Formats: sequence, structure tokens, C-alpha cells
Amino acid sequence: MEVPFVDLSLQTKEIEKTVREQFDLLLQANHFIGGIQVDEFEKDFAGLLGVEHCVSVGSGTAALEVGLKMLGVGPGDEVITASNSWISSSEAISMVGAKPVFADVEADYYCFDVADVERKITARTKAIIPVHLYGQMADMERLLAVADKHNLLVLEDSAQAHFSSLNGKMAGTWGNAAAFSFYPSKNLGAFGDAGALVTNDSDLAKRLRMFANHGGLRKNEHLIEGTNSRLDTIQAIVLHAKLQFIKNWNARRIEAAEYYSELLSDIDQVRTPIVRPNCEHTFHLYVIQAENRDELKDHLATKGVSCALHYPTILPLLPAYNSNGFSEQDFPVASGLQQRILSLPMFPHISQEQIAYVVECIRSFYTNR
Ligand SMILES: *Cc1c(COP(=O)(O)O)cnc(C)c1O
Repeated sequence: MEVPFVDLSLQTKEIEKTVREQFDLLLQANHFIGGIQVDEFEKDFAGLLGVEHCVSVGSGTAALEVGLKMLGVGPGDEVITASNSWISSSEAISMVGAKPVFADVEADYYCFDVADVERKITARTKAIIPVHLYGQMADMERLLAVADKHNLLVLEDSAQAHFSSLNGKMAGTWGNAAAFSFYPSKNLGAFGDAGALVTNDSDLAKRLRMFANHGGLRKNEHLIEGTNSRLDTIQAIVLHAKLQFIKNWNARRIEAAEYYSELLSDIDQVRTPIVRPNCEHTFHLYVIQAENRDELKDHLATKGVSCALHYPTILPLLPAYNSNGFSEQDFPVASGLQQRILSLPMFPHISQEQIAYVVECIRSFYTNR
């Protein structure tokens, strides 16, 4: 049996009719950036999250950059983020001229450790970017208390956590603003690059929108210098169609995760994900810890099962951050996990047969060693 890491084909099928009809209209209208499709998506995405404003942009990375910039983060500032994330979380900090500072992570939940975040606060710290990793939310109650105490801004990286929640409050609704990615394989994904910022701060929302549109709200208005980062109409059509399914697709991911965890529970060499109390983990990724991880991954590949690593190298140890001279001892928990984590195939339409097959392959690997 072949089990791909992600299979988007059944998602596409569910929205195919709607988007084809809309695309036909679009080809008649020849209107490709912005428009009512974008307005409607922004309104409905914000509405489902329960926030006041959504400003769509070109990608999740752009959302982080535009967000930091309009929060006033720049040269001389430090911004603390997670040591295990996709590089956008720290890249965006450098792109606005500030310095990324990395916090170690929680052994159980893989999100950054708020105690380490607090240790790393200096007089220059201006903001914090919590990453809701794999679909599980960072410890936002404690983080907001720390941010409050030290008067720091919070920009949530919600790229992996569409409609995840903690204590019933959704990812993206806790900080000053939040960045979402709609990269195709994210829980809510476009047919290309796309992203958005959300916030309850009306003044910030206006500045975000201006900055992402060359510094103005209408043509030839340039109140400030900005950039070009907008949502294509085509992507808005796709995202709006998928928005009707997202709660159902997240529920299917959660069911798939529960089935994996149940079947894996008697394999001693594997540790299944732990969900933070009162957290709705939406399993963008299903990440186990496994003994002999690399051999297991190769074994699964020979059986037709594609796995991945998120991420093979923690951010501070990437060549891009060499000049900091970090070593594994600086991030003991994140470094230890780096050798053991393995992301198993996960997508809303993964079947029980596929999950059972993946687990049988894992079981046979350990029993035949
Ligand atoms: C995907 C991702 C991003 C970046 O999103 P793009 O749309 O690919 O630019 C940022 N942060 C995290 C944690 C991500 O997983």
C-alpha cells in the first residue's frame, strides 16, 4: 500500500464544483487581485475565528513580516520565538531588522517553554512570536502574563493552527495580532501561496492593510512606504470554498490522530503526541518520538509510507544562524527531540486502513530487529 505524507486530492474534489463555477465567472470578469471574493473570505475567516479584522496578504511569511513591521518592531529590537519552527518565524524578525532570540521547548508539547522565554527577555526585547506548533497551542495564558509584566507585544504564528483552541479561545485571538499561512498543505490551504493577519485592533488593521498595499488604501495613495503583498482573487475563491469544510476536516484530523495513538499505544519504542489540557489540537502534523528514528523512516519508505521531519535541524543550529555560535547544549530539549521526532502521514481524508497499515509497518520494524 502507498501512504503519501499528504494527499490533497480528496480535499480538492470536495470543493471542485464550487471553484470551477467561480473560476468561470472570474474568467469573464478578468479581475485577479482583491475584489469581493477577497472581502468575503476575510470577513468570514475573521467571523469564524471571532476576531474583528482580517487582512489578507501573499503568504504566511509575509504576514509575519508585515505584522512585525506595523507593530513597530525594527533595528535594535529583539524578538523571542521558538527554537523549533519553520524558518519563517525567525526570518521575519531578521527581515524587519530586528534580532531573533530562540527559546527552548517543552518536552511534552513541543511548543516554546514560557519559562525559557522569560529568561531570555532583555532591555531590548520588544515582542514575542509564539508558534502554535503542529496544531497545538503554545501556553498562551502564561505567555500573556509574562508579556504583560514586561510590556511586550505578541504576534502569534498561527500558520499550523487554524481553529485550534486553548480554554475555548482560538489560536490567533490571543495576541496583538496573528499570522496565518494558507500554503497548500496547511489545514486551510490555497492553490498556491497565501496568508493573512488577524487582529482586534482597528488602527493596527488599517496600518497592516496600507503597508501590504504600497502604503495606501486606494490607488495612487501612498501615505507611507509599504510593499506588495495581497491575496489573489483565485486564492480567495479556493479559501472561501474550503472554509465551509475546515471544521469538518479538522475533526477528521483529530479522529485520525486518535486512531493512530490507540493503535500505537502498545509499541514501547514510540511515544505518541500529548495534548495540552484544555487544548483542541488540530493535528496539522501527527508527530511521534521514535527509537532508531532514521532507520524506522527508511523502513517505512521501503513499505510505501512517506514520513517527514519537522524539522530536521532546529532553527538556531541552521547555517543561517551560524554567526551566533549556538550549540545543542544551548537548547537541550529541542536538540534532544530533533533526533527522535517523526511526522507520520496526516491529512483529513487519510483512511483507517492507511493508518492501520502505517502502524503495522512500524510494529514490524521493531519486532524484526
Ligand atoms: C508554513 C509556516 C509559515 C510560513 O508560511 P508560508 O505561507 O509558507 O510563507 C510560518 N510559520 C510556520 C510555523 C509555518 O509552518
